Amino acid sequence: MEKRQLGRTNLDVSLIGLGTMTWGQQNTERDAFEQLDYAVDHGINFIDAAEMYPVPPKAETQGLTETYLGNWLNARGNREDLVIATKVTGRSDMDYMRGGPRLTREQIHQAVDDSLRRLQTDYIDLYQIHWPERKANFFGKLGYEPKDDGDAVPIEETLGALNELVEAGKVRHVGISNETPWGAMEYLRQAEKHGWPHIQSIQNPYNLLNRSYEAGLAEISMREDCGLLAYSPLAFGALTGKYLGGRHPEGARLTEFTRFTRYTSEHAVEATAAYVNLAWEHGLSPAQMALAYVNSRPFVTSNLIGATTLDQLGENIESANITLSDELLGRIESLHQR
Ligand code: NDP
Repeated sequence: MEKRQLGRTNLDVSLIGLGTMTWGQQNTERDAFEQLDYAVDHGINFIDAAEMYPVPPKAETQGLTETYLGNWLNARGNREDLVIATKVTGRSDMDYMRGGPRLTREQIHQAVDDSLRRLQTDYIDLYQIHWPERKANFFGKLGYEPKDDGDAVPIEETLGALNELVEAGKVRHVGISNETPWGAMEYLRQAEKHGWPHIQSIQNPYNLLNRSYEAGLAEISMREDCGLLAYSPLAFGALTGKYLGGRHPEGARLTEFTRFTRYTSEHAVEATAAYVNLAWEHGLSPAQMALAYVNSRPFVTSNLIGATTLDQLGENIESANITLSDELLGRIESLHQR
């Protein structure tokens, strides 16, 4: 498995990273153990969790994902061989989409101690801010109210707290997630100004149906050494083509979680059908073409895959061995421009 350098750190992470957000919801602890064993056997050394997982966030399941991962690390005794990433959301009531204040110094210190306890480790390799709490954030009214951040915690307070965690040895490196270009640059510059740890990564969505990262953030990744940790590379599974023709496979994510409509809109379905046909034409499965595309982008540090079965996991990991031809990349680009 190819490995890429995580930001300016001395850590190399596998091109395919293992996402965990289904563990405790769609997947049991036993499934999680099987996925982890399989992933590590196939060269994955990078695992991404979050304090609020599994998804969708619920008080009764919150933290289960980290607990399963911690139990597995403890059972296998391989903590030192792995790069463990997790994220702070900072609201114990999980109402994280409603804004701040939730990334206060106090909440961050509490959150990291809870994650360390669940993960059964004394350090986290990459600790990421899950969601900015500015009003004008990634899914918000970007550009409409850029100066009205309500009661959001100042970035300096959040970053200062993360610096304390690094100094205490609880966290090795720091990253951000669900950011805008403005937010990413603000974090980078504040960290630089105060001499606090560099922002090593940006974890945002990136897939054939959502290439918004390319507008602004990709340049930041390349210039500032903070590569993309690409999440939802299959657009929640839609890019496999499983929902085409109005199908709703039983138990599948977009059948279960109906509020996620972005990847099942009329335009998304039309584009998905075109990508699926293109993949088959080139002798690839739709999932593998979609994942190999993400792998091929130079601003990507790791492609965070998700799977609910071992078959899916195997198919997805295999994408690391696929190089898309220039002809196919050109065809993908033509579809994207349409
Ligand atoms: P994907 O877009 O790749 O969706 C994964 C889902 O698609 C699986 O759970 C499965 O769902 C389906 N699937 C995967 N592979 C196949 C296959 N080969 N054939 C058919 N169906 C398949 O990624 P996720 O959205 O799960 O994101 C991956 C990871 O990224 C997460 O676990 C998490 O670590 C991170 N993430 C971070 C976020 C953030 O806010 N920072 C947000 C979202 C994700 P099913 O079987 O139900 O159809």
